[in-house]
Parts: sequence; C-alpha cells; structure tokens
Amino acid sequence: MINFSPPRIDRSIVDAVVDTLYSGWITTGPKTKKFEKMLTAYGGHRVTLCVSSASAGLELMLRWFGVKEGDEVIVPAYTYSATANVVIHCGARVVFVDIDRDFDISVAAIRKAITRKTKVIMPVDLAGWPCDYDAINALVKEPAIQKLFCPDSPEQKNLNRILILADAAHSIGGKYHGKRVGGLTDISVYSFHAVKNLTTAEGGAVCLNLPEPFDHEIIYRDLNAKSLHGQTKDALAKTQIGNWRYDIIEPGYKYNMTDIQAAMGIVELARYDSDMLVRRKQIFDRYTLALSKFSWAQLPDYETSGRTSSYHVFQLRIKNITEKQRDQVIQEIFNRKVAVNVHFVPLPMMTYYRNAGYNIQDYPVSYDNYSREISLPVYYDLTDEMVDTVVSAVVESVNSVIERYI
Ligand SMILES: *Cc1c(COP(=O)(O)O)cnc(C)c1O
Repeated sequence: MINFSPPRIDRSIVDAVVDTLYSGWITTGPKTKKFEKMLTAYGGHRVTLCVSSASAGLELMLRWFGVKEGDEVIVPAYTYSATANVVIHCGARVVFVDIDRDFDISVAAIRKAITRKTKVIMPVDLAGWPCDYDAINALVKEPAIQKLFCPDSPEQKNLNRILILADAAHSIGGKYHGKRVGGLTDISVYSFHAVKNLTTAEGGAVCLNLPEPFDHEIIYRDLNAKSLHGQTKDALAKTQIGNWRYDIIEPGYKYNMTDIQAAMGIVELARYDSDMLVRRKQIFDRYTLALSKFSWAQLPDYETSGRTSSYHVFQLRIKNITEKQRDQVIQEIFNRKVAVNVHFVPLPMMTYYRNAGYNIQDYPVSYDNYSREISLPVYYDLTDEMVDTVVSAVVESVNSVIERYI
C-alpha cells in the first residue's frame, strides 16, 4: 500500500524530541521562543506566536479583532471546515464565496459579498497555492469599500478597514511575487498538523504583519496572555526565583505550543527549503511530466511567473467526468493499493452547513472542481518508483471507468 501523507520522522526529529524530554522543560519555553524567531525570519513578517493548532490561531485572531454576533466573515466555500467553524465559535456569520479555477478564493466574488457587517476576509492558499494578495489587499483599501466598514472594537478602529486573516495552513514556503507566505497580508496562520508540509504533530503559528499604528511587541504580549488564560506570566517566567506572583487580565484560552512540538519544528524548518520543498517539487514535476501525456488529465498550477506553490497537495482533475465516476476512479485506485484523497468536499455540502441554509448550487466552480478532483500522494519519503506506481494506478483506473461510462 502507498500511503497518502505519512510524516517525515527520522533520527534528527527523534533526537530533538528526546533531548527536550530530558531537558527538564517540556511545555512552552525556550524552544518555542526559538522556533517563533526562526519562523519570523523565514516568513518575512513582523512577529510570530506559536499556538496549539491553526484552528486555535485563527480563532484567537478573530477574537483579538473583536469579531462577534452580528458580524460577517467571508470564507471560500472550498476549504477545510476549520476555516469556517472558528467563525461560528465567535458567534459571527460565515459568508461563503466561490473560488476560481485554480481553487483559490475569487476576488470578484469577495467584492460582491462585502457588506457593512463584513469584518474579516479569510483567503485560503489552497493546496499551497498563494491567493492573489495584491488584489485582495488593494480591494479592502478601496475608498468605497473602506467607507462601508463599521469599526466596533479598538483593534477595528485602529485598522479602520476589513482585516485579512489568511488561512495559510497549506502554504508555508509558498511565494507570491518573490515574497514568502507569512508577510503577504495582515495576518497569516500556518498549520503544523501531522499531514501538513512542516509538522510538529499538532501545532500552528500566527504570523503578524499589521500596518501602522499597531505595535507588534504589545500585540505579541497581549496574544501570549490570551493564549494562556490571560495570565501575565508564563510557566517558565514563574519558575524564576521570587517571581511567583501573576495576574489574570482576561478569561483567556489554552492555545500554547509545547517545547516538544517546537523541537520538531526547529529541525523541520532548518531543512525545509533545502530539502523538504526540493523533494516535493520533484514529485510535482514527475507527476506533471507523466500525466501531461493524457488528454483527460487537467494538471494543477504550481509555478508561474508571479507565484510558487508550497507543493502541499497535487490536485489532479479529470476532464468531463461526473462526481460519481470520479468516486469510482478513486475506488479503482484504492483497489490498486494506492491511497488518494479529495481536497475538499465544499463546506456547503456538509450536513451542518447545508442545514444552516447554504446551497452548493450557489458555488458552481467549487462544485465543478470538487467533483473532478483527486489528490495524489506527496511526501518526503515517496520515491520516484512509488510516484510511477501511483501514476500507473491512476491511468489504469481512469481507463477502466471511462471505458464503462464515456
Ligand atoms: C489543516 C487545515 C486547517 C487546520 O489546521 P489545524 O492545525 O489542524 O488546526 C485549517 N485550514 C485548512 C485549509 C487546513 O487544511
């Protein structure tokens, strides 16, 4: 069986974790702070806060911005549930918009969805492909759109426009006009979940890149407290002699990253560009070369003059195929002992969101992309021979289904 995306666990990861376990400090501490500094240097943004997951980071930032009942947040219909669920947690309304053919949020659809209640837009760099940030950043600064914005919280008054909170769960290492994801908009949140490109088992990071007059040092201190029950000192600071007294300044959350997770992240980030991304790109190139021979194969963009993917998911689409036929192709691929996936079932098709009144017919590109999509395995330890096995399984499976149905 060829798996879909096992994590890369080797000797250096194991050693880093074991060293941390024996170090006497296993929760948030020096390794987490070091990982944050490395991430800031890497992404080119202003400051990083490591958290327990991307979901936690996204929710923390919605709450930091004061998103609440009565507000609207614009989210692509085509994403993982985390992007929309965190909006519901805050009591706000999810406004789904359709995507473009490249799987990323449609800027034209965002424009149509903006109202006086819109507080945040959450673009998702789907499969690692950065959204059109120049267009999105410019849109929220257009005078007519800025005039619609009704600020409530001090943070909303400071920004005085719609906030862009990028779900960068897939896209660490992706580039847009030469700059890395992290520094492309106001706030971007990475995920380090086990299936992501860079993993700490579970984990995430909030990359802050806010304009004037925000003070990143103050915001970092504030968010650090918010991610730890509103406590004014973290556990490490409290261990220093005579430094036991602390205060609770708000009923915060428990969203901190541990040093065990950070130890993995430090190893992974140090070799990410020179090793992980290089291998992932080779796999994308090999799939592209092998599959471009077939007229039924629609291949994903992963490199253009302005954008470079983080090569997170290889999204193959089959031309002129129904959802049911696609499902049959997937079954045939599994029968050949290759694990594939679909990224993603659009959220308006999920029971909760469907019952809440969203209708997939309002998102035709999302449905079309979804119904023809098959995600192929991409991971560090996938060899060229395994890539070739995947390609053979896909080709045989498509042929068997197309013979029957087309
Ligand atoms: C994985 C994922 C998340 C959530 O990441 P966690 O770290 O597991 O919370 C959010 N958005 C997208 C698009 C994802 O794929």
